[in-house]
Amino acid sequence: MSEASAFAPSQEEPRRYDRLFIDGEWVAARSGRVIRSIDPSTEEVWAEVAEADADDVDDAVQAARRALRGPWGGYSPTKRGEMLSKLAGLVRRDARRLAEIESRDNGKPLRDTLGEVQRAADWLTFFAGAADKINGHQIPYRPDALAYTRLEPVGVVGAILPWNSPISLCSWKLGPALAAGNTVVLKPAEQTPVSLVEIGRLVEEAGFPAGVVNVVPGYGPLAGAALAAHPHVNKISFTGHHGTAAAIMKAASGNLKRCSFECGGKSPYIVFADADFERALSVAVHSAFRSTGQSCSLASRIFVERPLYEKFAAAIAERAGRIRVGMPFDERTHIGPHTSAQQRDKTEQYIALGRESGARILTGGGRPRGFPRGYFVEPTVFADVDNRSRLAREEVFGPVLAVMPFDDEEQAVEFANDTDYGLVGGLWTSDVGRAHRVAAKIEAGLVSVNTFRPVHYMLPYGGYKLSGFGRENGFDAIREYTEVKAVVVDLAQDMPADPFAD
Ligand code: ADP
Repeated sequence: MSEASAFAPSQEEPRRYDRLFIDGEWVAARSGRVIRSIDPSTEEVWAEVAEADADDVDDAVQAARRALRGPWGGYSPTKRGEMLSKLAGLVRRDARRLAEIESRDNGKPLRDTLGEVQRAADWLTFFAGAADKINGHQIPYRPDALAYTRLEPVGVVGAILPWNSPISLCSWKLGPALAAGNTVVLKPAEQTPVSLVEIGRLVEEAGFPAGVVNVVPGYGPLAGAALAAHPHVNKISFTGHHGTAAAIMKAASGNLKRCSFECGGKSPYIVFADADFERALSVAVHSAFRSTGQSCSLASRIFVERPLYEKFAAAIAERAGRIRVGMPFDERTHIGPHTSAQQRDKTEQYIALGRESGARILTGGGRPRGFPRGYFVEPTVFADVDNRSRLAREEVFGPVLAVMPFDDEEQAVEFANDTDYGLVGGLWTSDVGRAHRVAAKIEAGLVSVNTFRPVHYMLPYGGYKLSGFGRENGFDAIREYTEVKAVVVDLAQDMPADPFAD
């Protein structure tokens, strides 16, 4: 796409998505209001989506509740797996179209969103296979009794999604929720409502019974809050800011909802002097800047052992300076714009804070040239950052990296853990003893050695501390969507003792 055509005002009318997906039907929002979704690379409204409010959310929850008792409740686990498999196939079939929508909504390069949509299908396929392997167990409680557990669905799940990876994170929640027999109300983020409406269409095409999955785009403080507080929602699965998680937890306390929260991180990436320099460098660049830094699991604090420090900092700055910032549909683009003006402004505030704090800026720090519109910011590297400064402590969610030196293993661990977050951590070393020692000490839900952030449907993923609680992915995710019921059957022939008989 040439620059001129990319920036010419489009003649396109905004696409209209004027229905919510509730109880298997496409219904108008009760308020008649719409969410205007902005294409972050052009700043134009590219889609208008029906906006759900508390009443629509209530309709969706009631539908989900009825669906638990309807045909879905009688499906065998294998049949639930088949339905998930069907959905995965449809997502795969429509991958290109879904990826294009996601790129328009959140500005990620098409090559990233394509990968994410394909992976969403993989996630659904994994949980399709898990559906008929959700077993309770037998407990040798007494010789003359049979005791066992049943893993039952929690009930109605409210899934509240962020704007950075809607389809992918939707599959992380839909997969285990449906595999375990729950019903779901999906609330996409107001910045990126479109792709989940499309998922609603695929759910319909797959033939899920009415009400098993409902899609209600809406604003957080209205639709999101209504879902969090609803007395007939049994569980909230949320990905987003920890402050929002705290508000949800409060709202959810009314009926003691189960909650699982994934709330981002400030993840340490530790490079020991005995590491393979080139591998550690290559992985660091992508880990720090992918998705314009709008990812929960970025390597946003890089700690380098003193003998390698200057060389590594200079090399990562040089590589960061070569990252191609561009339009999402240009196949040469490495990273696109921020998803919103608000997020771009936040990133710029942290760059200003970094400058004021006396950290050394090695590259970036401004807006790239050649983009008269769009929420673009240059990949930015700060060295000599104080690990106690706001730049090192707070999640930027933008392409801003803090590089810092350390002197020994003990200090590396101390710096890595001196954070309120604990989602992901990684270390690079050729010393196998150190690899396991440090991995054991890092306070994070996913730690990697000589690689970074191996997020996969088979690996549990979730946070310590402010990064949240509960786990997504792997069989650990199933636990988040099931209640354990213990059943005891007495087999004895003797009369039971009656303590009141005397
Ligand atoms: P960010 O700050 O990165 O935009 P948020 O945590 O605000 O992330 O948003 C993540 C999701 O939480 C979005 O779907 C948003 O609409 C929703 N949300 C925001 N505020 C609330 C709230 N008070 N209750 C429930 N959901 C909310």
